[in-house]
Amino acid sequence: LFITFEGIEGSGKTTQIIMLVEVLKAKGIPYVTTREPGGTKISEAIRDLLLNPKFMEMKPETELLLYCASRAQHTAELILPALEEGKIVISDRYFDSTYAYQGAARELDEEVINVLTRFSTYGRNPDLTFLLDLPVEVGLARIKNRNLDRLEQETLSFHEKVRRQFLSIANKYPSRYIVLDGESQAEIIHRQILSTLQPFIGE
Ligand code: C5P
Ligand code: MG
Repeated sequence: LFITFEGIEGSGKTTQIIMLVEVLKAKGIPYVTTREPGGTKISEAIRDLLLNPKFMEMKPETELLLYCASRAQHTAELILPALEEGKIVISDRYFDSTYAYQGAARELDEEVINVLTRFSTYGRNPDLTFLLDLPVEVGLARIKNRNLDRLEQETLSFHEKVRRQFLSIANKYPSRYIVLDGESQAEIIHRQILSTLQPFIGE
C-alpha cells in the first residue's frame, strides 16, 4: 500500500505521519516513511540544491528536472522495493506536489510534467492520498518561525495556486484522494485517517 500526504506549507502533513506511524508501530505492521524531495542519499542531496535559499536564481525548468531526478532515484531505490516487500510506504509529498508547485504555481507545461512523471515514477501511482487542506494564511502563519526554504519564501498568490491545484487534482481523482480539513485538531484528523485506513490496518 502506497500512501502519500499532500498539502501546502504548514498543513500538518509531517505531524499526521508521525501520529500514523505510532499506530503502525504499535500494531507491528511493516512500514517505511519517507519524504520528497528526498528519501535516499542522492535524493536528499538534490533536496539540498532545491531548497537552498542561496539558489534563488534557479529556473523553473531546472527545478522541475531536479524534482523528477530526485523522484526517480527515490522511487527505484526505496519506494518500489519496500512495496515489493509488502510494506506500507508513507511519503510526505509525491508527484502531486509537482503538479501543484512546478505546474500550477510555476506555470510549467502540464504535458511535459505528465511525461516526466510517468518516467520518474516507473508508472507507479499512490494508492491513497491524504490532502490536508487549509487556507494559505493559516498554513504560512504556522511556519513563520522556521528558517524559510527557497519555496516557502514565495508570495501568498503562489501558495494560493498550489492550494487550488491540490483541490482540483483531488476532485479529478476522488477514488485515490481523501480531502481533510487541515484546520481541525490534529487528533481529529488523525482519527479520520485511521478510519480511512481501517480496511488495510484494522481497527
Ligand atoms: O514538505 P516540505 O515542507 O518538506 O517541502 C519542502 C519544500 O519543497 C517546500 O518549500 C515545498 O514548497 C517545496 N516543494 C516544491 N515542489 C515540489 C515539492 C516540494 O516546491 N514538487
Ligand atoms: Mg515546507
